[in-house]
Amino acid sequence: MIKKVLKFGGTSVGSIERIQRVAKIVQKEHDNGNKIIVVVSAMAGKTNELLSFSKDISSNFNNRELDVLLASGEQVTCALLAGALINLKLNAKSWLSWQIPILTEGDHSNSRIINMNIEKINNFLDKKGIAIIPGYQGISSSGDTTTIGRGGSDATAVAIAKIFNTDSCEIYTDVDGVYSSDPNKIPVAKRIEKISYDEMLELSSLGAKVMQSSAVQTAMMYNIPLEVRSTFTDRNGTKIFSQESIDYTKSVTGVAYSKDDAKITLIGVEDKPGIAANIFEPLNKSQINVDMVIQNISSDQKTTDITFTIKRDDLIKTKKILELNKEIKYNKITHNDKVSKISIVGAGMVSTPGVTYRMFKALAEDKINILAISTSEIKLSVIIDEDRTLDAIKKLHTVFELD
Ligand code: ADP
Ligand code: ASP
Ligand code: MG
Repeated sequence: MIKKVLKFGGTSVGSIERIQRVAKIVQKEHDNGNKIIVVVSAMAGKTNELLSFSKDISSNFNNRELDVLLASGEQVTCALLAGALINLKLNAKSWLSWQIPILTEGDHSNSRIINMNIEKINNFLDKKGIAIIPGYQGISSSGDTTTIGRGGSDATAVAIAKIFNTDSCEIYTDVDGVYSSDPNKIPVAKRIEKISYDEMLELSSLGAKVMQSSAVQTAMMYNIPLEVRSTFTDRNGTKIFSQESIDYTKSVTGVAYSKDDAKITLIGVEDKPGIAANIFEPLNKSQINVDMVIQNISSDQKTTDITFTIKRDDLIKTKKILELNKEIKYNKITHNDKVSKISIVGAGMVSTPGVTYRMFKALAEDKINILAISTSEIKLSVIIDEDRTLDAIKKLHTVFELD
């Protein structure tokens, strides 16, 4: 007998028929003699709908109440799935996060799970019970409902796998695994059979939303193997585990993209020591994350142009901070928020020379202009014009033999 966490995402529980389908999967796993803890997301679109309700009330909706509101989506799915399982004559029960409890720390909308009580649920599993738990939420030390960031049901599943010491953690979703690129955008993308935590972490941080990045980070930290698989087919999914067990024949494993970034350029910045620190220190203080930075000497050799990228959501705030900054002198600020970030990721990049050159050459061949670049050991990202996103992904996918 093994203990499993099965997590079902929003599309998998997006309608009553789908919840009934999920109930059949859970029933089968239970009938195979496994102890089952199920984690569910809100029905597809629900969290966004709740969020828009809050915005209709106020653009400055109270943080505490927002978490109460957003957490309700998963609670609905829990009860519906438990009800569907009870209809199949199974001993199922939903547990809300305060009933377990699942303890979190951190700010509203951005908390982290730090612990949970395992006793009641373990007793229930011993009596052949099936426990249904809402993803994406917990309670704070003061007893308030909290949520743990968008896509957070993945993180709940991983936290449960760790704290309950389960034998497996299966992430059921609407695609049958992790692909070399988003299969809904790039039909020739290939399913990846196994992938390392490091690569998955880069891919999800760079836009592949199939796994939430903080969930991958926790799994990597505690060496919890994950499997991403489909609710709608029986095919094998993708196994995510530590790097040593994976054989790298390819330099690049996947191509990810995101449209979350914006680019800012300060033109004609006075060129003297300490200027970069003066620009970036106040941004850092306001928790604005600067990603890529490029500095050019201008034609008169006295001033410089500094370009950097930030999250698109931070654009207005960033410009305001720059404009109010008395420590820096420049001629003009320009920005571009019609950009996208295209990244290639692969643990095999470390041992394959020329990947950088091949990427730049491929984009140049298709006249795709690179606006900024950043690299790490296993990834290479470029900022390009947003309307060339799909062309760039397709080209890189072909050049690195992923089609
Ligand atoms: P869930 O609701 O199950 O959590 P998500 O919508 O969060 O599902 O994630 C699944 C989606 O991730 C897929 O439908 C797919 O469009 C998208 N996706 C993006 N990049 C990838 C990738 N590299 N491999 C697989 N899916 C990807
Ligand atoms: N329902 C939440 C969201 O849409 C959490 C999740 O689905 O993982 O972000
Ligand atoms: Mg998800």
